[in-house]
Amino acid sequence: MIPYGRQNVDEADIEAVVAVLQSDGVTQGAVIENFERADIDAVVAVLQSDWLTQGPTIERFEQAMAERCQADFAVAVCNATAALHIACLAAGLGPGDYLWTTPNTFLASANCGRYCGADIDFVDIDPLTWNLDAEVLASKLELAERDGLLPKVLVAVAFAGQSCDMRRIAQLAQRYGFTVIEDASHAVGASYAGRPVGCSEFAAMTVFSFHPVKIITSAEGGMVLTNRADLAERLQRLRCHGMTRDPAQMIGPTHGPWYYQQVELGFNYRITDLQAALGLSQMSRLDDFVSRRRELAARYERLLAYLPVTLPSAQAEADSAWHLYVIRLQTERISRSHREVFEGLRAVGIGVNLHYIPVHLQPYYRDLGFAEGDFPEAERYYAEAISLPMFPLLSDEQQDHVVEQLRRLTE
Ligand SMILES: *Cc1c(COP(=O)(O)O)cnc(C)c1O
Repeated sequence: MIPYGRQNVDEADIEAVVAVLQSDGVTQGAVIENFERADIDAVVAVLQSDWLTQGPTIERFEQAMAERCQADFAVAVCNATAALHIACLAAGLGPGDYLWTTPNTFLASANCGRYCGADIDFVDIDPLTWNLDAEVLASKLELAERDGLLPKVLVAVAFAGQSCDMRRIAQLAQRYGFTVIEDASHAVGASYAGRPVGCSEFAAMTVFSFHPVKIITSAEGGMVLTNRADLAERLQRLRCHGMTRDPAQMIGPTHGPWYYQQVELGFNYRITDLQAALGLSQMSRLDDFVSRRRELAARYERLLAYLPVTLPSAQAEADSAWHLYVIRLQTERISRSHREVFEGLRAVGIGVNLHYIPVHLQPYYRDLGFAEGDFPEAERYYAEAISLPMFPLLSDEQQDHVVEQLRRLTE
């Protein structure tokens, strides 16, 4: 068949892409990637194929992830923020509704509700796991029921790669009738209650991110996993303008082989086949990445045991993917301030970070009425937390150096 149009990718184009893959930044500047020859070859193969986007590699990526996670459906999109947005829409979230999430997360976990016109509220964190506290949630729901302000959606973030108390959250969801979306952007490759995160046993939908700082990357990319066919169908439509080519989803008869219908308002949130190829290729090393992360976490736990820092606590039933390794300074036992320790580590070339500034303290959310003191556990956490280097290529020697410098600065 002669196509109605086709792309013009030549050798120079391919070389340009390979050069970026071999550089330090595939998006948003420098990050630590783990690209191997196989990843680059997978992308080049797509560049040489007939499909740069909307092709077969996306489906292969979705199927591979669904299978690995023991979920029935997977819908890949351009990033996890888009995934959260369409997951909220598929859950029926709209103006006048509430979305609840943790303040200890990236902005997108709350912003997705704002995109739908919903109001946001937060549930404070557990002082030990730093995840949304399921018991605080239970009390807050009790009050909300009395006031007629129950949430429609809860975004349960698997902070640092460890799921929340999803069993309890699912019970509460059933009792109060809200939809649980697990934001597992940090938790690709993690497990909970003996099954892979993403199986969506305790959530209606699970969202993954494939941004380069996460566990595996597709440069930019996200995915929603679900076991509900109705949600999967809706997500597929929303990712592509709200349009369908499936006569079963149409209103009235089809006009012919060219025909499609827009049955609701959707977006262009598609991922490309190039990105899907990269993500699929990385999946083959996911187990290795996570096992090295677990090794490094166990090593940190051993090496930091006698320092004046509080280490992450394990959530019952959760096996973290260790996207982040966060410690909290026991500031009353340390002469330097939190900021001085942080800057001291940066000054000796240790790229520490801070996850997260409580979302409710962002100017945008303060304008919506939130203020300091609203979520005290998250605020206390913020005053003490530091994310230490954590990625599979971190060597034991580099890790020893991090610990040594932290010891010096907290003496
Ligand atoms: C990274 C991240 C996101 C957003 O992911 P993108 O793919 O960059 O859109 C959402 N939620 C959490 C918790 C994240 O860490």
